[in-house]
Amino acid sequence: MTERGKTAVVGGGMAGCAAAKELLKAGREVVVYEASPGLGGRARSWHRPEIEPDVGVNLWFTSFYKLMFERIREYGLEDQLVEMSNNVIVVDEGRPAELLSDSLLSLFRYPHVPMRDRIRFLTATVRETFRRKQLDIFDPLKLAPFDDGTTAAEYGERILSRRGFDNLLRPEIESFWLWQCEEVSAAHVRAMQAQVAGAKFYVFRHGMEVIAERNAEGADIRLEHEVTELQVIDGRVHISARGADGTVATEEFDDVVVATTAPVAAKLTAALPTGIVSQDTREFLESQRYEPALSVSYLVDFSSMPSEAHIVAAGAEDPPVKTIITFPRQVRDEQGRPVDKHLAFIYPGRAVSRRLLGLSTEEQFAETSRLVTELWPDFPADAEPFQIAERPHAMPVPEPGRYRRSARVIRQQRGPVVFAGDFFTSPISEAAMLSGIRAAETLTTA
Ligand SMILES: Cc1cc2nc3c(=O)[nH]c(=O)nc-3n(C[C@H](O)[C@H](O)[C@H](O)COP(=O)(O)OP(=O)(O)OC[C@H]3O[C@@H](n4cnc5c(N)ncnc54)[C@H](O)[C@@H]3O)c2cc1C
Repeated sequence: MTERGKTAVVGGGMAGCAAAKELLKAGREVVVYEASPGLGGRARSWHRPEIEPDVGVNLWFTSFYKLMFERIREYGLEDQLVEMSNNVIVVDEGRPAELLSDSLLSLFRYPHVPMRDRIRFLTATVRETFRRKQLDIFDPLKLAPFDDGTTAAEYGERILSRRGFDNLLRPEIESFWLWQCEEVSAAHVRAMQAQVAGAKFYVFRHGMEVIAERNAEGADIRLEHEVTELQVIDGRVHISARGADGTVATEEFDDVVVATTAPVAAKLTAALPTGIVSQDTREFLESQRYEPALSVSYLVDFSSMPSEAHIVAAGAEDPPVKTIITFPRQVRDEQGRPVDKHLAFIYPGRAVSRRLLGLSTEEQFAETSRLVTELWPDFPADAEPFQIAERPHAMPVPEPGRYRRSARVIRQQRGPVVFAGDFFTSPISEAAMLSGIRAAETLTTA
């Protein structure tokens, strides 16, 4: 090992940058390789100067994100926080109804399910809230004991009627994470239920990537450097990366945190012996499945849509459009005066998303414009197509048993090659940061 210890971090997302911070704190020399032109990974927003604030897909975080708030205080970013109202509107067969996680009244007024289900839902939520410390949505080590193979749908139907589940719990989960409750662990839903009651919701005024950028300060950050090969020779890690000019350079390290998505991590480490990457870890990486996401945004007149709203389709079907989210923005008119608008994000359902991924922007807008009124009939016909973001690997799916497997793999981690990312846990920026910190600690405490 060199005197300070030199560590490579492959991937400058929330996990990789959190790892970099921890490694720097431990006195390591750190190089962050990031394939794209900026840090933040999936938490990085697009930016357009025509709107104020200039930020697009704006990730939420809540009052129960601990690491996030620690960093906000440490970096003095309090003035960048924007509190959002938790204005969830569930649409069942064309009928919208409010369902707020911080309002008992909205639950009791919620018309889409019988009163019996509302009471059962409240009882289950109170029960899970008492287990909040163990049912930790960010931490697979704590969540693993609850991951007994039950799916979220089986859990839902145990505590609610079929209709109650489809119109109450399912829309709250599927509209955020896009996957289907039949495919995911009950532990994920129970953990959400345990945490979300009474939570406040926030976004960063200029995007969440600020946290990744601040976390990585002090590291040698190599943007537009795609790691193409990772070898371990005589216990030393050799990283080859292709820079923006196409040249490939190789550098030697003491160890590495691989903080990409699981398929990239699996590919980069495929040739390493089982003494370095255990069979269990390899199988885990190779088995991770991701739900894709397509977010199609429009600028609309302020008064044409409810503000800061999260409009969600109810029911068990895969609808053409699953979710619409509205964020207030301002644009300048021809005289340079500010005009209030909404940036409305449309998330198509799963089948439509899969069909539209990879098509031209024009085709994606045309199809989304045609389908959006199936969820929100009043969606303005003169909405201005604005920006599209495609994420073929958006959300790693926590299949039943996945938290148990990831806890096992995390416990097996040891240098010189360790892994980090939200595929170990829940697709949430806070969880990704926790996994990065854990991976770094494995190296620094070895
Ligand atoms: C549409 C969408 C909405 C979301 N909404 C929220 C939300 O509201 N709140 C919330 O908390 N979370 C949200 N999330 C989840 C959150 O974005 C992720 O959980 C988190 O950003 C994952 O971080 P990560 O570091 O594990 O992975 P990533 O962000 O994927 O980071 C991996 C990085 O590795 C880089 N990379 C890949 N291959 C290479 C290579 N060969 N060499 C070098 N670099 C490489 C990538 O470019 C990327 O920057 C959302 C995610 C999506 C997709």
